[in-house]
Amino acid sequence: MLLELKNVETYYGPIMAIRGVSLAVPEGRIVAVLGANGAGKTTILRTISGVMDPQKGEILFAGEDIARRDPDAVMRLGLSHVPEGREVFPFLSVNENLRMGAYSRDRARIADDLERVYDYFPALADRGSQQASQLSGGEQQMLAIGRALMAHPRMLLLDEPSLGLSPILVHQIFEIINRINEEQGMTILVVEQNAHVALRHSHYGYVLENGRVVMDDTCEKLESSPDIQEFYLGMKDQMPRGVRRWKKRKTWR
Ligand code: ATP
Repeated sequence: MLLELKNVETYYGPIMAIRGVSLAVPEGRIVAVLGANGAGKTTILRTISGVMDPQKGEILFAGEDIARRDPDAVMRLGLSHVPEGREVFPFLSVNENLRMGAYSRDRARIADDLERVYDYFPALADRGSQQASQLSGGEQQMLAIGRALMAHPRMLLLDEPSLGLSPILVHQIFEIINRINEEQGMTILVVEQNAHVALRHSHYGYVLENGRVVMDDTCEKLESSPDIQEFYLGMKDQMPRGVRRWKKRKTWR
């Protein structure tokens, strides 16, 4: 496993947001964490990348315990975090934003890296000198992912790349995420509210509710699970009469 969480607990003051989460991400795979608003998805990523410290538990990256390390140290080990809401530098150009992502890298390699990022995101290529604040939401999401790639990470943490984007753009961005995974063998942990798209584009999934993992399986199996269909894929109303389960209790813990 490239990344492993064991019984992680994270608090906001007295509020326990992550309640003993264990999960594993094998090298070269895309793992999705699904969950509704407030389930704790963002908090998990913040805990992994060192923005927040867990109270308990272990976070192993390539076998090394990185729990409670500074975000900069975690990034230098090869874990790049693309936070929710993209957080690009609005007054810097697209090019400058991408170069910021490469601050820990050998300068001689930056031109090649830029070319590679522009190859993944052609929409950014023509806008290198434009201010990031002038980009659309989808282009800013691309820029945020591109900036993370500039650091040559071993693994990407993506926080809701679909947030606020049209279905077509969401599809485009996930296609590119798949390409990055396939062509570079990039390991990716993505947290998503959009279960449809996350399940279609990932290999394995965890379902998070109130800070706890309540189910995990291959995305294929999750997609065909009645609970997931009803509670995350909104398919309850599409079931034929008689099969529809009134007052169904979830089968998970
Ligand atoms: P969203 O999709 O809305 O971002 P999420 O699954 O990422 O949701 P988190 O943002 O990780 O959820 O929040 C998990 C829990 O922690 C929620 O109950 C939330 O209210 C709480 N929480 C988040 N940020 C804070 C904060 N700064 N102070 C106190 N509680 C917080």
